[in-house]
Parts: sequence; C-alpha cells; structure tokens
Amino acid sequence: MDFRNAWHRDTDAEVRCIACGETVTRSDAREYDKYGDRWNRDNKSFEYLCKPCYREYCHFDRSGLEDRLEAAGAGTVSRDAFLRRYHDLADETEQTRADGR
Ligand SMILES: [Zn+2]
Repeated sequence: MDFRNAWHRDTDAEVRCIACGETVTRSDAREYDKYGDRWNRDNKSFEYLCKPCYREYCHFDRSGLEDRLEAAGAGTVSRDAFLRRYHDLADETEQTRADGR
C-alpha cells in the first residue's frame, strides 16, 4: 500500500493533527506549512492541525512548535516515527513547564 497516496486520496480525506494526533476531516483541519509557502506544492506534503491546536499554537509559542517539528524530523521520517518523537518532545516541554512552577 502506498501510504502517501492513501493519505491524500481526496480533498475530504481525513488528516491527522500533527500536534495532538487527532484525526479530523481535511475540511476541518488547517493546513500547516512550516516553510510558509502554500503555493509551491511540488515534492512536499502538508501538515495539518485540528482547529483547537491551530488556535493554541497561534496564541502560544509558535517558534517553539517550529523547533519541535524540526527536532522531531518533520518531513524526513515516517509519520508514525515523527508523531512518536513529537509527543516525546511535547512531554519534555510539559515537564519543563511543570518544574518551573
Ligand atoms: Zn490537534
């Protein structure tokens, strides 16, 4: 099975939020392009955020999200590996915040 084609099979396909892992329909998701260029679609796959996470990351530390996405290997490792690594990094961030209280 070609995972990428399955993932992008049509515009109403379900996509997975890169932040929380929730599956939402693409029409309910927000495209997130870490390169900030939505029009050059060659050789890249878009990331998606569900609406709650999209709002959260607009209001909080967006540059921190960029760093975590890069550190987790966004676009360079498989999606499963990326999600595992992202969640590990997010947990570390949560613990850092908790320790600082
Ligand atoms: Zn989400």
